[in-house]
Amino acid sequence: MQALDRRKVLIDEMQRLASEQKHCAACPGHCCTSVANSMQTTPIETQDVLNYLRESGRWNSDLKEQLKLNIEKFRLDHIPGNGRRNYLRKTYDCPFFAGKNLGCTIPKEVKPYGCLGFNPSEVNESEGKSCSSNQKILAEREESDPSENETNLRLTNLHSLWWDKLPLPLALLEAEKSGL
Ligand code: SF4
Ligand code: SF4
Repeated sequence: MQALDRRKVLIDEMQRLASEQKHCAACPGHCCTSVANSMQTTPIETQDVLNYLRESGRWNSDLKEQLKLNIEKFRLDHIPGNGRRNYLRKTYDCPFFAGKNLGCTIPKEVKPYGCLGFNPSEVNESEGKSCSSNQKILAEREESDPSENETNLRLTNLHSLWWDKLPLPLALLEAEKSGL
């Protein structure tokens, strides 16, 4: 499945909510900053973002330095446990958040699933109080592609990854280090 196909059900739901005025336009972006962001990505999600960054010419030394500083600032590489699922999630300012007016600079076609599945349920939400992760639709997405677990396993074995989910900045740098 292509990156967009794996996200279709989430994007459709986001668009449905937006058509009811349940969108992020009035919010300063709480879920993209350390106020509430603890996004982690799997190998395939990380690869989607990395491919986009490479293809769009954004994967350069400035961005990598920014990611390193972000990891340092939020101590994202101090990982309780062994990098496998269910360890404590740390909050951090997402380095791809460009502020209230520009918002997220990662296109929806390759955005982490958790970002797409987190939306407001009230009209013109501005404080994030009505926002939540739609577990039902995230599960529906997961079930729509049963081969995704195998793909993650294949990437893990092929590139000897020691992690199955990491905060996005760390995942990107670790992915490159492993030749993903
Ligand atoms: S990837 Fe985009 S939507 Fe997700 S936390 Fe970062 S800025 Fe926010
Ligand atoms: S999902 Fe909620 S907290 Fe996140 S930017 Fe949109 S309105 Fe704000």
